[in-house]
Amino acid sequence: MSYEIKREPKILKCPFCDKGQIEASYTPARVETQIARGSGMNKTTRVWVDERYQVIKDCPNCGKTASQIEKSLSKGTEESKPPSRQEILKRLKDAGLPTKV
Ligand SMILES: [Zn+2]
Repeated sequence: MSYEIKREPKILKCPFCDKGQIEASYTPARVETQIARGSGMNKTTRVWVDERYQVIKDCPNCGKTASQIEKSLSKGTEESKPPSRQEILKRLKDAGLPTKV
């Protein structure tokens, strides 16, 4: 079973200065099937992929680079912690996506 991975464009607030508007593309968390090849056997493994923000531009306000902002977003700041796995599973369930890992 496969489903399309949707990337949504998002406008975020800069986590550093809290004023700049950041353009990012958001990829929701998902489960991916990976095939590991080795010693004549194909092994299928399911891998959890965390949600991810891909920042497109540097902050126009404080000048932090896209990769710095990306790092901060994926790690989460103290005020905005990343959602727990349970929370993500719930979201997947609500969206009708498979949740078995
Ligand atoms: Zn900023």
